[in-house]
Amino acid sequence: KAKSEGRNISAYYTDGLTQSARERLMLESRLRTAILEQQLVLFYQPQVQLATGQVVGAEALIRWQDPDEGLIGPDRFIPIAESTGLIHEIGLWVIQQSCRQGVLWQQLGLGDLRITVNVSAHQFQREGLTQHIADTLLSTGFNASLLELEMTESALLTQHADAVSLLQQLKQLGIRLAIDDFGTGYSSLAYLKALPLDVLKVDKSFIDNLPQHQQDAEICKAIVRLAHTLGFEVIAEGVEHQRQHDFLNHIGCDVFQGYWFAKPLPADEFASLVLLNRQQTNGVND
Ligand code: C2E
Ligand code: MG
Ligand code: MG
Ligand code: MG
Repeated sequence: KAKSEGRNISAYYTDGLTQSARERLMLESRLRTAILEQQLVLFYQPQVQLATGQVVGAEALIRWQDPDEGLIGPDRFIPIAESTGLIHEIGLWVIQQSCRQGVLWQQLGLGDLRITVNVSAHQFQREGLTQHIADTLLSTGFNASLLELEMTESALLTQHADAVSLLQQLKQLGIRLAIDDFGTGYSSLAYLKALPLDVLKVDKSFIDNLPQHQQDAEICKAIVRLAHTLGFEVIAEGVEHQRQHDFLNHIGCDVFQGYWFAKPLPADEFASLVLLNRQQTNGVND
């Protein structure tokens, strides 16, 4: 009896493993096809300056336009791209596509929009990233100071010394560097001070309950003060309500992004929105 139970249990687990392994393989091969068939697309979420209401940039966010399933979000395929190594190919494409888009928008008359691109730990640690970015800036003609890379604290924390020198190499290209999801990782103040960063992106979880949640309100104030002391710009992520926007403006946060202003949009819709925004905010700045 015990023996047959044991067998059942192991049969159960083996089935489970093969099942998930099969699903993974399926997804991996579909993802390879998606790359070849150019089914990956970038959406762009506006980043808005709080003081002026002007759109100053965009975060590029990847989606998979599957002919059968429709749009698939990054949370479903980026982890597989990372574990299979496909992330390198995808990541290089994201950087190249973002630079091309930035140049196209300039040609459309949208001005100097910054484009920020997410870089995962795997990409960051792989040799050749700096060279690829240098090549891409050269071949597309996109202005280095308009390109920003976002990395999470955990991506940077892997090997301190390496991270610092890697970031310094990237900085030397003239691009901007941001910490994404700030506050959810374990970076120390000493670490923050040592890194050549330009932007802290405050994680949505600190923004969600603003302004009524006293502690979160104080944390956001402290982050803004700290960031400004260190010379960083602060961006609030995931702003969904006017009251959050108003509070962030009140405490001197620099930039926000979130559904309250706009969801991530296809490139053409983003451009239309920016043109409208330029008309509405005309005179605020100039
Ligand atoms: P992230 O970089 O922290 O991006 C923010 C996520 O929050 C995005 O989800 C965005 O659509 C969503 N978001 C923005 N505003 C709001 C809001 O007001 N409310 C809510 N509920 N959500 C909001 P998305 O596009 O599904 O991306 C998820 C994550 O996937 C990103 O988190 C990023 O870590 C990763 N990712 C996206 N694109 C890329 C890429 O090209 N390369 C890599 N390596 N990772 C990517
Ligand atoms: Mg991001
Ligand atoms: Mg984020
Ligand atoms: Mg995130």
